[in-house]
Amino acid sequence: MMELPHRIMIGQDVLRLLGKFIEMPRSAGIVVASGLNVQQRVREVVAASLEGRVSWVDVKFSDMKNVRSVMRASREAKCIIGLGGGKSVDVGKLAASKLNLPFFSVPTSASHDGIASPFASIRGTEKHYSIKSKPPLGILADVDVIAAAPPRLFSAGCGDLVAKLTAVKDWQLGHEADGEYYGEYAANLAMMSGRLIIDNSKRMGRCDTSAVRDLVEALISTGVAAGIAGSSRPCSGSEHLFSHALDVISPGNGLHGEKCGIGTILAANLQGLDWRAIRGALKNVKAPTTAAEIGVSDGQIVEAIVRASDIRPERYTILSKVRLTSRTARALATETGII
Ligand SMILES: [Zn+2]
Repeated sequence: MMELPHRIMIGQDVLRLLGKFIEMPRSAGIVVASGLNVQQRVREVVAASLEGRVSWVDVKFSDMKNVRSVMRASREAKCIIGLGGGKSVDVGKLAASKLNLPFFSVPTSASHDGIASPFASIRGTEKHYSIKSKPPLGILADVDVIAAAPPRLFSAGCGDLVAKLTAVKDWQLGHEADGEYYGEYAANLAMMSGRLIIDNSKRMGRCDTSAVRDLVEALISTGVAAGIAGSSRPCSGSEHLFSHALDVISPGNGLHGEKCGIGTILAANLQGLDWRAIRGALKNVKAPTTAAEIGVSDGQIVEAIVRASDIRPERYTILSKVRLTSRTARALATETGII
């Protein structure tokens, strides 16, 4: 089953077209899930653009409590809009999926690929990784708004993109190990987004409007790749398991894309890919490449490497093939300059 977004609008100064873009009748109830910071930045232009009966729900965390409050506010609604960076889009997406309502993703930063994917990263569930949801019906990405977000979020988005190189390699390993479905097209689409950063890291590092546009298009493409594959396989491998393990071991330190970028250096080394090129590209886009830069200790990095494969034991990755101990994990992190 391929579930894909129906329409995507990317451009400068397009946020004011949101009302037209969602194509909802004037009488429709619309719920906008959004954090307070984002509301301060764009509430006025969004409110002016939406003509239906609009309810705003403040999203504080990406957890089930916030999903439930969006669901409560959406009983009479005809659609839900997730307006913000990571958490509002994730929370809105899962709430809409549970209520079977159309969902529109309106990212105000480009820090990860959840803006287009059929997966939501929600805390407080029994799983420590993204859960299956539905893809957005539409995505509206205003490049001007996203370019005004803190540069750290841009760098994190680049980290989530290089992750596709090791994710796809892990997917191939899973296919070779136990015949798991592997889709060449979805794999190539995801890889292309990872290559964008490796091949253009100096230009992307300028973080200007054209770089933001490329980043947004690449993040959306990887979300589409996941939709085509019907799984997160093309987007998420051992580097994501490492990131999820750090979420548990050292909560609140480092952004998702930053941790995935560091995980990609580690996974690439194990997979025999050019990990130095990946590290160089991450440095060029000003993404962190060491434990200290994301505020975690050397020991926590080692523990995350060792525990990563337990996050999702059924998913075959390089970590299933090369079983690491604390000693070998430390050697890996030291060799790659992460600790
Ligand atoms: Zn990711």
